[in-house]
Amino acid sequence: MRAVDETGEGAMTEQAAAGGAVSAAGTTGARHRVVVIGGGFGGLNAVRALAAADADVTVVDRTNHHLFQPLLYQVAAGILPPGLIAPALRSIIKNQANAHAVLAEVTKIDLANREISTEAPDGRTIALGYDTLVVAGGATHSYFGRDEFAEFAPGMKTIEDARYLRDRILSAFELAEISTDPVERAELLTFVVIGAGPTGVEMVGQIAELAHTVLPRDYRSIDTRQARIILLEGAPSVLPPFDKKLQVYTKRVLEKMGVEIHLNSLAVGMDDDSVTVKGPDGVQTIRCRTRIWAAGVAASPLAKMLAEQSDVETDRAGRIPVNPDCTVPGHPEVFAIGDMISLNKLPGVAQPALQEGKYVGRVIKARLAGLPAPPPFKYFDKGSMATIGYRAAVADAFKVKVTGVLAYLMWAFIHVAYLVGWGNRLGTMYTWARALVFTKNRGHRIITFEQAHTQVEHHPQPPKDTPVIEQSVPPATGTVESGPLPPGDRPAEQVPAAGRETG
Ligand SMILES: Cc1cc2nc3c(=O)[nH]c(=O)nc-3n(C[C@H](O)[C@H](O)[C@H](O)COP(=O)(O)OP(=O)(O)OC[C@H]3O[C@@H](n4cnc5c(N)ncnc54)[C@H](O)[C@@H]3O)c2cc1C
Repeated sequence: MRAVDETGEGAMTEQAAAGGAVSAAGTTGARHRVVVIGGGFGGLNAVRALAAADADVTVVDRTNHHLFQPLLYQVAAGILPPGLIAPALRSIIKNQANAHAVLAEVTKIDLANREISTEAPDGRTIALGYDTLVVAGGATHSYFGRDEFAEFAPGMKTIEDARYLRDRILSAFELAEISTDPVERAELLTFVVIGAGPTGVEMVGQIAELAHTVLPRDYRSIDTRQARIILLEGAPSVLPPFDKKLQVYTKRVLEKMGVEIHLNSLAVGMDDDSVTVKGPDGVQTIRCRTRIWAAGVAASPLAKMLAEQSDVETDRAGRIPVNPDCTVPGHPEVFAIGDMISLNKLPGVAQPALQEGKYVGRVIKARLAGLPAPPPFKYFDKGSMATIGYRAAVADAFKVKVTGVLAYLMWAFIHVAYLVGWGNRLGTMYTWARALVFTKNRGHRIITFEQAHTQVEHHPQPPKDTPVIEQSVPPATGTVESGPLPPGDRPAEQVPAAGRETG
């Protein structure tokens, strides 16, 4: 009995109907079966590189889209709609006859039996057998051992995360507008971003632009320009991995945009209304309702799953070490790529993942064609970039360090070029032109009562008949309370992280 059959060729056959377990011998059974876990930068490029291969390629992802994470912060800022940066995987590969997509979460990898187990959204278990496996599960947030922070300081890795943050930021302004309590307003208008890597810098820059440029004329009771926007960083500079000149420029521009930067400062405690910070001036508690975590990432748990079965140790960021051809030690039929691996000290950014994906596609094709194996993977460094705000960015590419409008244009060009699909590229350019150049507005600021309500669930509600909304502007400074480190509070341990926020 067929359980899942999208290609018409018989993708998976049901094995144990009673338990809902499904087994698959691959796509057709006859051809070489390549299973790719993850349709991100690494996985998708591996799939595409296998377009002409004599193999059936199955890409399994727990989302139905390929997410362009570098532009996630623009969804959180209400600039871009999610669809432009997250095209459906199925539509990307629709013209690749040998590939098909499965929406399911991989729960187990069995290297000995060459099979993976997955859970579909309806709870059924699907087993997929493979001849070659490519694992590209990416990375997840790391709270450096302080997982309880996750409840108070969400990070940004998925479309849901970005939408949640957008709701949170916009709700804070809405709630401040209807609040009549100056202390509460000040808390609502204080935004703390933890981690001054590229994501933290981009996020804080966007909140500053919202507060100072986009929103001021939209509100009547509050002056959004009085919002406190705070960036916390444990290292002595912003953008720790970047060149000194670019760090200095970034700090200067952010401060000009009204961002308070606290360097050498670690978040050591959090609750619904505050973040406690240990910095050069001691310990202080900043009253705030919005905290965003941009401080650390750890490899996907799939890395550990592979490591445990191949007798290797993951590093402190949970990444699995791989051979120079991206194979997992002891398993030439299994490749691991992207943010979840450690190879030649490459950073956890898009280019290594993308290039590794293309590379393993070439290796697999060569094997299938009986050709000699390509030489070990060699990374071509195309540099790094980050935006700060409107027409301000930094770029370190091809041995040139650029700041300002030129860097901004370089950043925009590169990011549009790497988006998947012309429709998304044109749509993004149009939306940017409209939002940033012509109207200075954010076209995707939609929140509903329910979304705003979710953001205040932890806070006591004011009486139902709270009457007057004052037309005055209270000082919107979040209270800073200094004092000793609360008992039990310890700084989040700083470990080298797997991904982009690595210092
Ligand atoms: C907010 C943000 C901004 C960034 N900005 C930049 C930037 O400007 N420049 C840059 O170079 N890099 C940037 N990066 C880093 C870059 O996005 C990553 O390095 C890159 O995505 C890594 O590719 P990957 O294929 O390893 O993982 P990903 O692209 O994350 O793909 C992993 C895929 O695996 C799927 N998956 C994971 N676990 C499972 C499972 N158990 N079952 C099924 N599917 C699973 C996920 O759904 C996902 O689709 C940014 C990252 C973030 C989060």
